[in-house]
Amino acid sequence: MIVAKTDLKSMSLAELQLFVGEMGEAKFRAKQIFNWLHQKQISSFQEMTNLSEKFRARLEETAKISGVQMVEKLVSKEDGTRKYLFALENGSIIESVLMQYDYGNTVCVSTQAGCRMGCRFCASTIDGVERSLTAGEMLSQVYAIQKDLGARISGVVLMGSGEPLDNYENVMRFIRLLNSPEGQNMGQRHMTLSTCGLIEKMYDLAEENLQITLAVSLHAPNDEIRQQIMPVAKANPMDRLLRACMDYTDKTKRRITFEYALIHGVNDSDACARELGRQLQGMLCHVNLIPMNPVKERNFTKSNTARVQRFAELVQQSNIETTIRRRLGSDIDAACGQLRRRYMEK
Ligand code: SAH
Repeated sequence: MIVAKTDLKSMSLAELQLFVGEMGEAKFRAKQIFNWLHQKQISSFQEMTNLSEKFRARLEETAKISGVQMVEKLVSKEDGTRKYLFALENGSIIESVLMQYDYGNTVCVSTQAGCRMGCRFCASTIDGVERSLTAGEMLSQVYAIQKDLGARISGVVLMGSGEPLDNYENVMRFIRLLNSPEGQNMGQRHMTLSTCGLIEKMYDLAEENLQITLAVSLHAPNDEIRQQIMPVAKANPMDRLLRACMDYTDKTKRRITFEYALIHGVNDSDACARELGRQLQGMLCHVNLIPMNPVKERNFTKSNTARVQRFAELVQQSNIETTIRRRLGSDIDAACGQLRRRYMEK
């Protein structure tokens, strides 16, 4: 019989304590292992030099340390943005991005290999989802990039491939492990979870008692347009979605970010901007506009700079704080998810 090895990197400290207990080891060993995995961020049992050789050998037999293998790295000459392609254990490929800001280094993390949400403007979803990532695999993206950069990663955005709320349990685990004082100790306020708007899961998230920022990919001011570009909008209509957002801010007191990718001739008219302003009236929120990144497999084009500017001004006139997202790494920018696609085509 082949028994799958337990992935220690995805375990909480309490779970590790149970695990070492079952192996007949003292409880404090769990904390030592947790430290190796999440603070020193090593990748083999052999490096755990404060454990006996015998114990290390037994760990080798029953357990594993999940990780990611770097297969490609692109560095922007303009602003130091880095794009990474990582291979998972089963050979699936994912993409992660490092963005360097004045206030710190942020990693854009993938939560699934591919995605099954089907947004029409997005490259990550073209071939559907291969599989969801474990917490250990999400952490490994952050740890690997931190090591490669040689500087601390102080923030993450869950905006790589995948829908975080479609991989709910693993993502919650990832957030708590990353936040752990015994590990990377990243503040929850430096973490952003972005969702295409899965309403039921947003209610679950509100109950988690987290300090993270929730970003909701809205991309349209009404259901008619939203359903054209986001299939998930059919089961998750705007009125219920915005109600869920209001309930979320009431419960958590945390401001929501609405993401809005401007697509030429689809969602970027003056009327759209005014309607968006009306829809979000009175909400504890912030709108983040981004000119859509062109995706070669899709026949959408991005709005021009003047249109983006005008759209922002109109939304602001409704007293809604609006920012235009700065584009980083445009010289290495195959739009989100395209690096992975190009690699897989080869
Ligand atoms: N599934 C989650 C998170 C991953 S996508 C979500 O939908 O929010 C992260 C963000 O990138 C989302 O707002 C998504 O709509 C946006 N996005 C995807 N493709 C894009 C493109 N071609 N141009 C601009 N933004 C895009």
